[in-house]
Amino acid sequence: MRLVLTVALTGGIGSGKSSAARILEDCGAGVLSLDDIARSVLEPGREAVAEVAGLWPGVVRDGTVDRRALADVVFADPVALERLNGIVHPPTWREARRRLAGLEAAGCEAAVVELALLAGSGREDAFHGNVVVEAPFGLRIDRLERHRGMSREAAAARMASQRDPLPLADLVVNNGGSPAELQRRVRDAWRDWLRPYASNLLRGERTRGDDRRPSRHELGRAVARLNYWGVGARRRGDGIVAPAPVDRKAVLRAGFVPAAEGPAAFVSANPACRIELSTVRDGAMG
Ligand code: ADP
Repeated sequence: MRLVLTVALTGGIGSGKSSAARILEDCGAGVLSLDDIARSVLEPGREAVAEVAGLWPGVVRDGTVDRRALADVVFADPVALERLNGIVHPPTWREARRRLAGLEAAGCEAAVVELALLAGSGREDAFHGNVVVEAPFGLRIDRLERHRGMSREAAAARMASQRDPLPLADLVVNNGGSPAELQRRVRDAWRDWLRPYASNLLRGERTRGDDRRPSRHELGRAVARLNYWGVGARRRGDGIVAPAPVDRKAVLRAGFVPAAEGPAAFVSANPACRIELSTVRDGAMG
C-alpha cells in the first residue's frame, strides 16, 4: 500500500497560514482549504443552511446565511459555536476526504490541508504531521488591521477565541519577519521535511532523514498519531512499542514504514528524527 503524505497547516488568525499555503502550492503541494470548504457548506441550497435556519431563524434570509450575523451569534456564545460546528463540520470533513482522494488520484506528491481550527477538531492526530505558522500577537493584529480591514478589538477577540495550536505542532514556521523570509522558511520546510517525508512514505521505506533521537514532544506526537489510528502504542525509553500484530495500514497512516534494519519492526517516515516502533506480545506491554 502506498500513501500520499497529508499534513495539516494551521495557525491562529493572521499568523500567515494562507500565505504559507500559497507558497506550498507553488512548491508543488496539493492544497485544500478547510475553511473554504466550510464556507461552501453554508451556501444557498445546501442542507446545512436549513439546519442553521432552524436554530437561528434571524440569520437566514431567503435561503441565504448572513455570515456576519451568524458570526455575531456564535463568537459571543460557546454553546452556539459548538452547535454550529456540529452542523458544519461533518459535511466539511466528508468533502475534504473526497478532495484528498482526488489529489491522491491525480498523483500529487504531498497534500496540505489548511485549517484555522485544528485544536478541538477531533482530527488533531489524524494527519501525518501538523505544520503550525506562528507570529507575535501584536504583529498579527497589525497585519489583520492593515490588510484585512479588521478593527484591533475584533482581531484580538477572534484571536482570544482560538486555542493555541503550538502543542500540536510537528513543525513550526515562524512568520515574524518579512514575506520574503516566510517564503524562504516555507520552501525550506518543503525541501527538508515535507518532500523527504512524502518520499519515505511513498517508497514504504525510510531512505531520507536525520538519525537523531526524538524529543519527548516528538515521541508524544507519534504515539498520539498511532493511537488515533487504533494501534495501542506507548512510549518505552526513546522508542515506541505496540502490541502485535499491528495493522500495517494504520501504522502507515500514522507515518511509520517497515524498518529495513535493526530489531524494530517499523521506523518513522518523518525525517526530522528517527523513531522506532517495536511490536511486542500483548502481555509484554508492561
Ligand atoms: P491567516 O491565513 O493565518 O489568517 P494570512 O496568510 O491571510 O493569515 O495573513 C494575514 C495578512 O497578513 C494577509 O493580508 C497577509 O498578506 C499578511 N502577511 C502574512 N505574512 C506576512 C508577513 N510576513 N509580512 C507582512 N504581511 C504578512
